[in-house]
Amino acid sequence: MDNFDILIIGSGMGGLVCADILGREGYKVCILEKNKQIGGSLQTYVRDKVIFDSGVHYLGGLEKGQNLYQIFQYLGIMDKLKLQQQDLDAFDKILIEGDDKVYNFAQGYENFIKQLLVHFPNEEEALRTYCNKIKEICSKFPLYNLRSSDDFNEKSDVLEIDTKAFIDSVTSDPKLQGILAANNALYAGQADKTPLYVHALILNSYIESSWKCVDGGSQIAKLLSKNIKEQGGKIIRDCEVKRIVEENGVVTHVVLENGEKMYAKYFISNMHPVKTFEITDTPLIKNAYRNRLKGLENSTSAFTLNLVFKKDTFKYIKHNYYVGREGYVWTTAEHTEENWPLGYAVFCGASSKSPEYADGLSILSYMRFEEVAAWKDTFNTASKENDRGETYNEFKKRKAEILLDAVERKFPGIRECIKTYYVATPLSYRDYIGNDDGSLYGIVKDYKHSLKTFISPRTKLPNLFLTGQNLNLHGILGASMSGIVTCCAFLGNDEIVAKIRNA
Ligand SMILES: Cc1cc2nc3c(=O)[nH]c(=O)nc-3n(C[C@H](O)[C@H](O)[C@H](O)COP(=O)(O)OP(=O)(O)OC[C@H]3O[C@@H](n4cnc5c(N)ncnc54)[C@H](O)[C@@H]3O)c2cc1C
Repeated sequence: MDNFDILIIGSGMGGLVCADILGREGYKVCILEKNKQIGGSLQTYVRDKVIFDSGVHYLGGLEKGQNLYQIFQYLGIMDKLKLQQQDLDAFDKILIEGDDKVYNFAQGYENFIKQLLVHFPNEEEALRTYCNKIKEICSKFPLYNLRSSDDFNEKSDVLEIDTKAFIDSVTSDPKLQGILAANNALYAGQADKTPLYVHALILNSYIESSWKCVDGGSQIAKLLSKNIKEQGGKIIRDCEVKRIVEENGVVTHVVLENGEKMYAKYFISNMHPVKTFEITDTPLIKNAYRNRLKGLENSTSAFTLNLVFKKDTFKYIKHNYYVGREGYVWTTAEHTEENWPLGYAVFCGASSKSPEYADGLSILSYMRFEEVAAWKDTFNTASKENDRGETYNEFKKRKAEILLDAVERKFPGIRECIKTYYVATPLSYRDYIGNDDGSLYGIVKDYKHSLKTFISPRTKLPNLFLTGQNLNLHGILGASMSGIVTCCAFLGNDEIVAKIRNA
């Protein structure tokens, strides 16, 4: 039987980054992944020979020297990734129902300002104030800038700024206020909740540079898994961890679904922290702490429509669209049965087989878990396939057609290009990621309770650590940084940050 130093539960971005880094540091690691496919939200799926991403539609910060570039460079995957830079003048295009203008979010700060000045010629001062503040906030996060520093005070004064209030303060034009928040589905933005640092860290990353993975984001997981194996590590799929067992104050082993026990010196969980502690039976994790975590809100979920196009009918686009209704930018997730969808995002997958015409397109619109609660007791993954029943199929079809009607209003003729379509709901996200409610981005950050929503990688069990999007920030960049934070906590120093900076 193998002897591992570290068992990592879950092969999401955070788990893979931890395994790769700690493998480089000489530890023998093993990842236990419940799904057939590794990667968590990095997973792709193929329908009608078209590759669809589950949770990586575009990446920021991948220009030489930028933060994600350096992390990927250190991990040895940067030059192996198949990437395509999005339109320099528009990585995102913002469309508003009833307004024919197209508002471009461009790469590079000067270009970002220039493109918005086309429609807001009198707002240069507001746009400069906005951009300067975003840059200032980003400069206060040491790890984001690949600086070693544990000086929390550096960022403490910017944690409690409300995104909506800030945007509304830079301009009195409600149109521009709405446009600057229009891609807030990137972080499931909420008025009077989303801290400005979340908006800033994410937007800055895409303004710096914006990229698509050609043939899907699962290549990131595959490359990291290759590294892990080359370092002597192991990844076991179809291997759900059911219990984390504590004895005499430390975790000794985990129990798998088939009853097998696996032992190690250290354990890292890439599961949602609430789910981690649900399966950790120990008095050392106090109920007050468990309840505090359970009380934190998770971000909303989504309904995703994946279109397969008839050959050569829909031109490939090198940008994304965010489409919304005027006045609803901060309340898009508060739709009712009657007015859904209040907004949606459109992502065109980059395919090496079909560079000129898109072979598929993903359309995401918010959907709350309660909307699919009728089928909550059905579970379906590639490992355990189950039919959720006819009423669920009817629900999916009805919602898909409503969403398509909305999309057709902004993209006339799109229906004609569709060969077939496939749907994912909050239940799909729940079952593939392993959380309770299909939450897209995990624990919601709240500027009013900023410290409560930062989760420490350390737990009361000295050899059990946490990692993943719930710790600091979601996204591939955020989950990578969480992986680094976990490794620093594990190693007891932050020397790897310098290694990444100098890679
Ligand atoms: C629809 C959607 C779109 C997104 N778009 C983008 C985007 O365009 N750009 C971007 O940067 N980010 C995007 N994100 C966010 C990004 O994908 C995530 O923040 C990130 O991948 C999460 O990584 P993680 O480390 O938290 O792991 P997760 O992806 O949450 O993975 C956790 C892993 O743990 C496994 N697991 C859970 N329980 C167990 C168990 N008991 N035993 C064994 N294994 C278990 C799961 O199967 C899973 O593989 C998107 C997310 C979603 C859902």
